[in-house]
Amino acid sequence: MSAHVWGPTGWKVPVLGQGTWQMEGDARTEAIRALRRGLDLGLTHVDTAEIYGHGAVEELVGEAIAGRRDEVFLVSKVMPSNATFEGTLRACERSMRHLRTDRLDCYLLHWPGPHPLSETVRAFETLVEQGKVRSWGVSNFDVDELEEALALAGEGRIACNQVLYHLQERTIERRVLPWCEEHRVAVVGYSPFGSGRFPHASSHGGRVLTEVARVHGASPRQVALAFLTRRPSLFAIPKAARVPHVEDNAGAARVKLTREELVHIDAAFAVGPEAELPML
Ligand code: NAP
Repeated sequence: MSAHVWGPTGWKVPVLGQGTWQMEGDARTEAIRALRRGLDLGLTHVDTAEIYGHGAVEELVGEAIAGRRDEVFLVSKVMPSNATFEGTLRACERSMRHLRTDRLDCYLLHWPGPHPLSETVRAFETLVEQGKVRSWGVSNFDVDELEEALALAGEGRIACNQVLYHLQERTIERRVLPWCEEHRVAVVGYSPFGSGRFPHASSHGGRVLTEVARVHGASPRQVALAFLTRRPSLFAIPKAARVPHVEDNAGAARVKLTREELVHIDAAFAVGPEAELPML
């Protein structure tokens, strides 16, 4: 599995990971098998959150990674309503208990919330000092919120911003992605398949993906994942609760798109005229 540098940390983290949102509603045994199969295939960045199934998903993940903790780059998130200084410390302990671990590789604020960000950042730094969290980041932060976090924490502290990013939703390319690249913040794209609303094969974009996929002996989703992780700042965390799905997703790692193919896909899913970066 190819890897990109995790923001300012210098660590290499697999480009493709595994999401777990709504997994509490999936067939449990198969979901656990899928997560373990994903680990076998190198999808070792596992993303969860205390809010998912009110802790039930963290428990499921804890079961899936039992005995394999050292293979996993484990990420969880504090709910904004809990993200006071003390609340964040307590939430982290609770998540680690559910996950059956003594540390998180990255701990995120799930979205900007009602409590002062300064308290959350102070709690994150305390958890780092205590060795309970190896890095911390944010999620669903726009540029103003990132600026606030940066002013509080200083350069080189925010490991990632986890944000909505799929072929039909490329808004982050306008401001958030350039800002994150400038400040060495990893960008983790969530819902890379639009939470199940993947471009239909008969749509223009769907036809482009199918065409490129055919050349590579790949699936359209593999091509989408390759496109969504085309820059060194980008990661993706598709969620799959079935073994064949996770096997398909892992196969994206071997798809290397040419510049012409990137241009073709870019045009089929245009981000719009306001994009600041040349995206290829
Ligand atoms: P997603 O990954 O875009 O799509 C998941 C859906 O695609 C599921 O229905 C899954 O089916 C299906 N799927 C996966 N691989 C497939 C394949 N190879 N072929 C066909 N279908 C496939 O959706 P998501 O769960 O919204 O996003 C991914 C992760 O991002 C989440 O699980 C979560 O960890 C994270 N996330 C974070 C936030 C945030 O606010 N920070 C918000 C949303 C999501 P099965 O599950 O049945 O296999």
